[in-house]
Amino acid sequence: MNKERTVLVLNRSWMPIGITDTRNAIKRICRNTKGVRSIAPSGAPLSWDDWISLGEDELYEDQPYIYSARDRFPIPTILLTESKMFKKSSNKIPTLRDLCDYFDNKCQICGKGHRYKELTIDHIIPTSKGGVNRSENLTLACKKCNNSKSDIYPFFSEDGSQLQPFTYDTHFRINKNNVRKEWKPFIIGHNE
Ligand SMILES: [Zn+2]
Repeated sequence: MNKERTVLVLNRSWMPIGITDTRNAIKRICRNTKGVRSIAPSGAPLSWDDWISLGEDELYEDQPYIYSARDRFPIPTILLTESKMFKKSSNKIPTLRDLCDYFDNKCQICGKGHRYKELTIDHIIPTSKGGVNRSENLTLACKKCNNSKSDIYPFFSEDGSQLQPFTYDTHFRINKNNVRKEWKPFIIGHNE
């Protein structure tokens, strides 16, 4: 699947808070069907089921797709989330509370919601393997997942896919060459 970072992530106020890749975007919208939406060209935020039932003429002109053996599915290019986070101008290290707010208390490994005290800050690349203590290497994991993952990296989930959790990516940059047309209304004034 396409690993290019071609999906703009918006917070609940429709402000950009990050860019991610197709794989993460689809995982996120499929796991959290109530909260995460794909923005259609009409401006409507749609659940995964509604999004994939749009006709070709209701999708973006250069709509990217993923292909399965029998089908093809349109890839969301703008994801509306329930995050309350705003883009910060400094690259501050998030606290556990920040991560819980950002991810709505959902473990980014098992996808389940947990209480605050059952959640931990997880280093995607473990510090023992050179991972840094910075927002781009941090995500939210429940204690159970964090323990089973330990300092294994890369970590593969039960279905054999490599784990690529969302990170707390407050300080994101938009590469001018990768800007999609439909992002423009959302990123006016954003520092590149
Ligand atoms: Zn978990």
